[in-house]
Amino acid sequence: MALARVLIVDDSRTSRKLMRNILEANDYEVAGEASNGEEAWAQYKELKPDVVTMDITMPKMDGIEALSLIRKDDPEAKVIMISAAGQREKMVEALKRGAQDFVTKPFDEEKVVTTLKDVLKN
Ligand SMILES: [Mg+2]
Repeated sequence: MALARVLIVDDSRTSRKLMRNILEANDYEVAGEASNGEEAWAQYKELKPDVVTMDITMPKMDGIEALSLIRKDDPEAKVIMISAAGQREKMVEALKRGAQDFVTKPFDEEKVVTTLKDVLKN
């Protein structure tokens, strides 16, 4: 049985693929993938994943707004933000809005797995 079901949100197909590979190699199940905030919000409601990995910069609706909507619907939602270099301010904003933690690109497998474990424990 998988450790948890994860919704991957990122507008970069390559980043989604990399995250999927890390998750599947470490006994996590990918519940679904979304490529913008709108899709993320809709899929969260439909799939009810245990945790979301949420990119920040995306078209249509960014990760910060999607995080806010998801947490409004489900105050217990566990969301890990995915940040790129130079997004410190946005990370602070995301943590303020209820994100549990964050990992930075490029992905480090060990860091992704440790962060997931920590977030799911709480
Ligand atoms: Mg992006």
